[in-house]
Amino acid sequence: MELCKVCGRPVTRDEIGLTKKLINRGAVEFFCKTCLSKKFEMTEAECDTLIAHFREAGCHLFV
Ligand SMILES: [Zn+2]
Repeated sequence: MELCKVCGRPVTRDEIGLTKKLINRGAVEFFCKTCLSKKFEMTEAECDTLIAHFREAGCHLFV
Protein backbone atom coordinates (compact mmCIF):
# COMPACT_ATOMS: atom_id res chain seq x y z
CA MET A 1 0.00 0.00 0.00
CA GLU A 2 1.25 3.47 -0.87
CA LEU A 3 1.13 6.26 1.69
CA CYS A 4 0.79 9.99 1.18
CA LYS A 5 4.25 11.56 1.35
CA VAL A 6 2.93 14.54 3.32
CA CYS A 7 0.40 13.20 5.83
CA GLY A 8 1.04 9.44 5.74
CA ARG A 9 -2.55 8.52 4.91
CA PRO A 10 -2.98 5.51 2.59
CA VAL A 11 -3.61 6.75 -0.94
CA THR A 12 -6.25 5.32 -3.26
CA ARG A 13 -5.66 4.17 -6.80
CA ASP A 14 -7.34 7.37 -8.02
CA GLU A 15 -5.01 9.49 -5.91
CA ILE A 16 -1.99 7.64 -7.28
CA GLY A 17 -3.30 8.27 -10.80
CA LEU A 18 -3.91 11.92 -10.06
CA THR A 19 -0.42 12.34 -8.60
CA LYS A 20 1.03 10.88 -11.78
CA LYS A 21 -1.08 13.17 -13.95
CA LEU A 22 -0.32 16.33 -11.99
CA ILE A 23 3.32 15.74 -11.12
CA ASN A 24 4.97 13.15 -13.30
CA ARG A 25 4.02 9.87 -14.90
CA GLY A 26 7.02 8.25 -13.30
CA ALA A 27 6.20 9.53 -9.81
CA VAL A 28 7.25 7.15 -7.07
CA GLU A 29 6.03 9.31 -4.19
CA PHE A 30 2.31 9.87 -3.94
CA PHE A 31 -0.03 12.37 -2.35
CA CYS A 32 -3.57 12.04 -1.05
CA LYS A 33 -6.29 14.22 -2.51
CA THR A 34 -6.18 16.62 0.43
CA CYS A 35 -2.45 17.23 0.07
CA LEU A 36 -2.60 17.34 -3.74
CA SER A 37 -5.32 19.95 -3.60
CA LYS A 38 -3.24 22.10 -1.22
CA LYS A 39 -0.14 21.69 -3.34
CA PHE A 40 -1.95 22.68 -6.53
CA GLU A 41 -4.28 25.23 -4.92
CA MET A 42 -7.44 23.38 -5.87
CA THR A 43 -10.38 22.15 -3.87
CA GLU A 44 -10.85 18.43 -3.26
CA ALA A 45 -14.00 18.67 -5.36
CA GLU A 46 -11.88 19.94 -8.25
CA CYS A 47 -9.60 16.93 -7.78
CA ASP A 48 -12.66 14.67 -8.05
CA THR A 49 -13.70 16.49 -11.22
CA LEU A 50 -10.24 15.98 -12.69
CA ILE A 51 -10.26 12.29 -11.81
CA ALA A 52 -13.69 11.89 -13.43
CA HIS A 53 -12.46 13.78 -16.48
CA PHE A 54 -9.37 11.57 -16.90
CA ARG A 55 -11.43 8.44 -16.37
CA GLU A 56 -13.93 9.50 -19.03
CA ALA A 57 -11.04 10.22 -21.37
CA GLY A 58 -10.07 6.58 -20.96
CA CYS A 59 -6.80 7.21 -19.17
CA HIS A 60 -5.44 3.83 -18.12
CA LEU A 61 -4.30 5.27 -14.76
CA PHE A 62 -7.95 5.53 -13.72
CA VAL A 63 -9.52 2.28 -14.86
ZN1 LIG B 1 -1.84 13.65 2.42
